[in-house]
Amino acid sequence: MPQSGPTGSPLIHPVIVPRADHNISRTNISENALKVLYRLKNAGYEAYLVGGGVRDLLLGREPKDFDVATDASPEQVEKEFRNCRLIGRRFRLAHVRFGDEIIEVATFRSSGAADTGEPDEDADRAHDGGTGRILRDNIYGTVEEDAERRDFSVNALYYDIRDFSVRDYVDGLPDLRDGVLRLIGDPEVRYREDPVRMLRAVRFAVKLGFRMHPGTEAPIDRLGELLGHVPPARMFEEILKLFMYGFGEQAFEALRHHGLFGQLFPRTERALATEEEGFPRVFIAKALASTDSRVQQELPVTPAFLFAALLWEPVRQIAAGLEAQGVHPSEALRRAADEVVEEQVKRVSLPRRFSTPMTEIFTLQPRFTQRQGKRPQRLMEHPRFRAAYDFLVLRAEAGEADMELAQWWTQLQAGEAVAPPPAQPGAGGGRRRRRRRGGRGRRRGGGDASGAGQEPG
Ligand code: ATP
Ligand code: MG
Repeated sequence: MPQSGPTGSPLIHPVIVPRADHNISRTNISENALKVLYRLKNAGYEAYLVGGGVRDLLLGREPKDFDVATDASPEQVEKEFRNCRLIGRRFRLAHVRFGDEIIEVATFRSSGAADTGEPDEDADRAHDGGTGRILRDNIYGTVEEDAERRDFSVNALYYDIRDFSVRDYVDGLPDLRDGVLRLIGDPEVRYREDPVRMLRAVRFAVKLGFRMHPGTEAPIDRLGELLGHVPPARMFEEILKLFMYGFGEQAFEALRHHGLFGQLFPRTERALATEEEGFPRVFIAKALASTDSRVQQELPVTPAFLFAALLWEPVRQIAAGLEAQGVHPSEALRRAADEVVEEQVKRVSLPRRFSTPMTEIFTLQPRFTQRQGKRPQRLMEHPRFRAAYDFLVLRAEAGEADMELAQWWTQLQAGEAVAPPPAQPGAGGGRRRRRRRGGRGRRRGGGDASGAGQEPG
């Protein structure tokens, strides 16, 4: 006899893997996540670890964070924890804070409630035609429904704190075993519901080394344009997840392969199409490879450097045009950066605390050619020197800047004797230097020229 769930949808019976038959041990779960799970369970609620935490533990990887799903309403969750804050409007999520760690607790959502990953987004749609009344009736659901509205089958596995079993409602376990990334439900519908899932597909495929299921992969070429409708702030977050976690070079290649890179960085994509002698493609890939290796060495990385790399090619092209009209090189770069950023932020937002240092990385580039007198010493005291120097080295490695020049600066910093620089046409000219903000020679935080690297400073 067919059973049906509370919303009339057929009840799905999960595959339940008992504790003895899987490798998730509580010693690998954050203590704080365990506290949240136990507290909810002891208060009589269902509570599961879900999402990337379960997926990564099953794969023997270290999870980035731990998410909890429960049948307790956000208000009920709030009552259980003093250190709890509710965020979002349509889907309210509870953030339970323990020092630096936040455990996100989400109430089961119904299948009709599309997850756009953004609690505040679509808040208007949750209101009843202008009356301002928030419609919550159809938003929360059962654990079965919660599983079905998730993105990929491998992201929809539940670790049950009652008996430490793993529950699979959507055939996620076979996919996990086979290394397959498969969207739950009809892929086209799911991408239209939330186009960011296309970026997530690329990200998880690259990060986990999974292949996309053919049905998950096929619509991406066609639907990439939908990314144009995603709020730029959300895109910024996704860009960081794609490029700042140690697999950026591969993510870049995969995004280009699927025709998505041009949706994120249209101007860079156009510049890449006018490739010259292996450069620009080589430059971005090299910059991302360098960021990847910094991440692997646990060195700091900053979005300012990342965006400098991603936007350099169009900036460089525009600046070259301005310079040909007689604009001073640094000024040309600054104007070019402003122009590119203005257009870019329509797609992907770039907070000023990153665009300002990014522009400095650009405008310092011409100053590396000025090697006479006290200029090198002054440049080395600039708070952005180290990042700008790293950038110069990448340009040289990509064949776009002079390798001799980059090496000269490397030696200078190492305290080695440097050859007197070749006479620089125009370098000794009477142009007045603009005063830096903060006064001459004053170093700002992290300005130590020894390995501050990409640190924001
Ligand atoms: P990461 O390792 O990057 O944290 P994750 O899988 O945990 O990966 P999160 O962005 O932290 O990804 O989201 C947690 C879970 O929420 C996902 O595993 C997935 O089940 C669900 N989810 C997140 N974003 C979406 C989305 N856009 N559509 C559907 N489900 C989503
Ligand atoms: Mg996560």
